Order: sequence, then structure tokens, then C-alpha cells
Amino acid sequence: MKRTGCAVVGGGPAGMMLGLLLARAGVQVTVLEKHGDFLRDFRGDTVHASTVRLIDELGLGEGFRNLPQSRLTRVAFPIPGAGLVTLGDFTSLKPPYNYIAMMPQWDFLNFLATEAAREPSFTLLMEHEATALIYDGGTVAGVRYRTRRGSQGGSGPGGEGADGELYADLVVATDGRHSVLRRAAGLQPKEYPVPFDTWWFKLLRHASEKGAVAGIVPAFRGSEAMIALFRDDYYQMGYLGPKGSDTRIRAEGVERFRERVAALRPDLADRVDAIRTLDDLHWLDVRLDRLRRWYVDGLLCIGDAAHAMSPAGGVGINLAIQDAVAAADRLAPVLLRGRAQVKDLAAVQRRRRLPTVVLQTVQRIMHRAVFVPLFAGRMTGPPPVLLFFVRHAPVVRRLLPRLIAFGPRPEHAPAFARATKLDPMTSPTDTAVDAAAARARLLELIKELAVVRGKVILSSGAEADYYIDLRRITLHHEASKLVGQVMLSLVDDAGIDFECAGGLTMGADPVGTAVMHAAVDAGRTVDAFVVRKAQKSYGMGRQVEGPSVDGRNVLVLEDTSTTGGSALTAVEGVRKAGGNVVAVAVIVDRDTGAKEKIEAETGVPYLFAFGKDELGLS
Ligand SMILES: Cc1cc2nc3c(=O)[nH]c(=O)nc-3n(C[C@H](O)[C@H](O)[C@H](O)COP(=O)(O)OP(=O)(O)OC[C@H]3O[C@@H](n4cnc5c(N)ncnc54)[C@H](O)[C@@H]3O)c2cc1C
Repeated sequence: MKRTGCAVVGGGPAGMMLGLLLARAGVQVTVLEKHGDFLRDFRGDTVHASTVRLIDELGLGEGFRNLPQSRLTRVAFPIPGAGLVTLGDFTSLKPPYNYIAMMPQWDFLNFLATEAAREPSFTLLMEHEATALIYDGGTVAGVRYRTRRGSQGGSGPGGEGADGELYADLVVATDGRHSVLRRAAGLQPKEYPVPFDTWWFKLLRHASEKGAVAGIVPAFRGSEAMIALFRDDYYQMGYLGPKGSDTRIRAEGVERFRERVAALRPDLADRVDAIRTLDDLHWLDVRLDRLRRWYVDGLLCIGDAAHAMSPAGGVGINLAIQDAVAAADRLAPVLLRGRAQVKDLAAVQRRRRLPTVVLQTVQRIMHRAVFVPLFAGRMTGPPPVLLFFVRHAPVVRRLLPRLIAFGPRPEHAPAFARATKLDPMTSPTDTAVDAAAARARLLELIKELAVVRGKVILSSGAEADYYIDLRRITLHHEASKLVGQVMLSLVDDAGIDFECAGGLTMGADPVGTAVMHAAVDAGRTVDAFVVRKAQKSYGMGRQVEGPSVDGRNVLVLEDTSTTGGSALTAVEGVRKAGGNVVAVAVIVDRDTGAKEKIEAETGVPYLFAFGKDELGLS
């Protein structure tokens, strides 16, 4: 009987990344891919900034940058009469993660496969198509597969394909939008209507055009749109037409299709003869759906198998990879010990559901605002309201490139998978396997140790029925570490990057050091700092102590806030010292208006880990 720790079905972006990460943790992992190579054309090509950062964290940056690629530095739409209007300018992001890499997906998947193959516990079985699940009682215990003729892993007696079985502690379905395994498990996605389909084809690229333009160029006309991706020696073209029109397009014949292409891109009209027959046209049924539950006992679905993404915004590959990182982070330590429990699988869904919902909602809005009017022949570009915000609202101009390049809740490489590896059984990520568990324990401790009931006068002068003494938490032998983990994941979940953490002495001091240690445990570089209540009049006359915050992204912390005064003093001190404050975060918010005041006066988000309702104080 063949057996592995984790059977990953599908060698797309989600499956290959998961295979690499689990193998780096030492988990026995087997990836089954039904095709014989990754050389399938007409796949998405985008490698987003958060994935480039992940590749660097894995120590693979040099090899990745050696792959043929171009850089997309902005997303723009051609507007009649207004030229190209930029929707997202990635150069406004912090280098070196201020672009989207465009590379053929097969190069990227080959690269991941090569790196994974260096790990002794990794196996890749090409031409192995999973056909069914194996059950042991009510639990998924493995997969049945069929090999192609003559492929590795055994062919039948006459050289024909053969059936086989692979047992595993966990099966992960990364088999894409038409997932066989999720269907076999009885998991039914909720479908959202998509107004268009895509037809992919190739057009020649003249030598003189080589390297001329990087990225995606969309074109709109009447009720049609088209995008062009730049390949080494050809253009990969995607024709976007109303859903359900494949039969009509084919009935109209190849000449009519050539005319459509020439009308949409007159600059490419000289080469439309390259579309010889309509067999050169590959129809892609675009879907947008999401599973309510991503798992059953023994099986987890991630990537498009859990949530098929539309090409709108080109975020599906990145999201699939982020799912893989979150899954590896939570499941590697568990799989090294044995089977993953349902609660472990639920933790992965909990972590990844929110970013999926956010991005799918944005895609649905794009469908309604751009594609529905387009296919009704009412629009030839992005809606005016979007353009207005992009042009006139600085916050939209700042947030849009960040949302596209990093997505909500970007993931970082688990410590065990980084260039300098830590043992997942003993590394700090083990205790952080379930951030929810850390949060739940911290809440217990706050309720038990820090909440003091009775009439008290607060430092702000206000009177209250209770007092929360968070020093009893931030200086507590067990709670201090939890404070670091909880605050770090609070800020990570908000998609905010920072390099320094601290605040006004002394409430913020232990919070800053706890966050610093949690970040360092996760393999990141974060310094702490202390803001004095007033600038020193002696020595170097500094108000902000510790490694310099000048020119760095700073997270201002506080244990709790009533009027917001301490945090505001800290923000002012940091800004005077040249720091770029990116957020204010507190452990407990007392719902006394601090959030509104701080956000209004500083212009940065105010985050809190616990509200007073959660502490039973409302
Ligand atoms: C037209 C179109 C264009 C897109 N363009 C972009 C883009 O530019 N950028 C972007 O980020 N996203 C894009 N997307 C979305 C993106 O392609 C997906 O979200 C992403 O590829 C999902 O990755 P995945 O690993 O979950 O699944 P997939 O990439 O679908 O990979 C699934 C893998 O599983 C294999 N497989 C399937 N069934 C089995 C089986 N039974 N046994 C074994 N192996 C199996 C498949 O061969 C495949 O290799 C686009 C989507 C569409 C429809």
C-alpha cells in the first residue's frame, strides 16, 4: 500500500507552493498532477508583490529573478479622449516589492518544482490524475488515481495507463476550478454569476516590438474587450465576450473573428491571419464560486478548488499561493505528529476566508460596474465614478495599488520554510499554529488578571466603574508572549507592514518589546522603541529612544486608550523623529472615542485586539 503524509492533488500554483513548504518542514508530501508538464498555455501570468516577497523569504529570490520576466509597474485603462488613465501605480509602494512580475506560469511552476525536488521528503507524480477519494469510515484516507500510458509510477501490463491508490494523513485538493475531489467529497460551491467568458489565442510578435511594453494592455469596443499579454516572441491574447456566446462565435466563422480582433486592436490587424482556424481559439468558461466549508475530515480544499476566481484583477494565482502558505503554516507541525484534525482544517479556512470574500466581492463589483455595461454596449472604459475616485481621492490612489499588489491579509513564509530554517516541532510558529488559540488564552488572562471592578479615577481624570490594569498582562510571564503574537497577527491581518514598534513610555514599553520578539520569532526584522513623555534636554536630546525610526514604517502601540492622548503624543514624537507612522494599535479598546479621535488627528488606522464587549464590560 502506497502511503504519504500529505497527498496534494493538482500541480498548479497552490499545489506546488504547498508541496514545497510542507517538504521544507520535513513532511512527506506527494503532489499528483494529471498533465505531463506545466507547459500549458493560456494560464494567468501574474506573480504579485506579496508572492515575490514570499519567494525572497524562502531564500529563492536570486533564482526567481533570473527567470525571464517583465515588470508591470502600473495598471492603466485607455479612455477615449483621455489616453491611458492609471488605476494603480505600483511604484508608489515601498521597494523592492513595488511591481507585479509577469512571467509564463509554466516557468514559475517549473521553478517551484525544481526547488521542491531538493527536499528529500518531496515527490512529484506527473501524469497522475486523481479520480476518487478513498474513505476509511467517514474519513478521507487517500486518493485513487489513474496514470497515463508509460508514465512514472507504473503503467499497466500492456503499457497502458494504470489505476493506483495513495493513502495519506491528509489530502489537499488543489485541483482547480473543476475540482474532482471537492465533488467527490460532496462539497458544493455557491456560484456567483459571471457575465463573460474568455477565448485565448496567440498572435505573432514582430522582432522590432520585443520588450517594447511590459504588462497587460486592455482594449474596449462596443460589447467586447481584449487583453494582450506580452510573451517572448508572441502575444497571448484574451478575447472577452458575453457568457454563452461560444457557439455563436464559432458559427460566425474565423474571418469574422479576425475582423473583431483587428477592430479591437488595429495595431495588430496586420497579423490576424495567424488565427488559422477556430481550433486556435481556446474557450475558457470563467467562473466565480466559493465553498461554504472548505474541508471534510481528512480533506482540505484550497486555491480555486475552494474559490474559483475570475480573471478580473488577475489575483487568483496570488490568492491560491497565499492559501498554500497559510495551510502549510498551520498544518506542517500537525502533520509531523500524525493526522490533521477537522479543527486544524477549519483554522486554515478561518484564516483565508476573509481575503477571499473581499477579493471576490471586488471582482463581483468589477463585473457589475465594468463588464455588464460593457457587454450591453453601454461603456467603453471604467465607470466614471471609479475614475473620479482614482483621480481625486489620494487614499484610493494609495490603497488601490496596495490592494492589487499584496491583497488583503498577505501571508509570510513560515519560519520552518525560510532560508534559515527552524524546526516546526519546536519553533515559535508551533505555539502560533493557531493564532486564535493565543487570542482566546490572552482574553482569558485579561479577564482573570487585569479587570478590576469598582469606582476609579482614570489617568485622563474621567470616572469609571471598572479599571483595566493591563500592566498585569504585559508584564505577566505567560501573557507577555501572547500579547506579541496577538498584536502581530492583528496588524498582519490588516495588511499593514511595519519595521519598528513602540509607543509612549511606560504603558507601551512591554507591548513594543513583545511585538518585536514575536516578529523576530517569525523570522522578521522589527525593532522596538520608546517615546519619552518630553524631549530630553541633555545628552542627544532625543525623545524617541532605541534604533532610529527615521524613514522607517512605524507601528505605534499602547496597552489601552481612553482619550487617545498617549498614542497621539507618541505619534507626534515619532513623526518629529522622521518615522512614518502606519497604524496605532492597542490591546484593549474601551470604546471611549479614542479610535475616532486618533484616526481623525493622525490619518492612520486605529486597531484593537479586544473590545470592552468581549471583556464583558459593556
Ligand atoms: C481566463 C482566466 C485568466 C486568468 N488570469 C489570471 C491572471 O492573469 N492572474 C491571476 O492571478 N489569476 C488569473 N486567473 C485565475 C487563476 O488562473 C486561478 O485563480 C489560479 O490558477 C488558481 O490556482 P490553483 O493552483 O488553485 O488552480 P489551477 O491553477 O487551476 O491548478 C490546478 C491544477 O490541478 C491539475 N488537476 C486538475 N484536476 C486534477 C486531477 N483530477 N488530478 C491531478 N491533477 C489535477 C491541473 O492540471 C492544474 O495543474 C485567471 C483565470 C481565468 C479563468
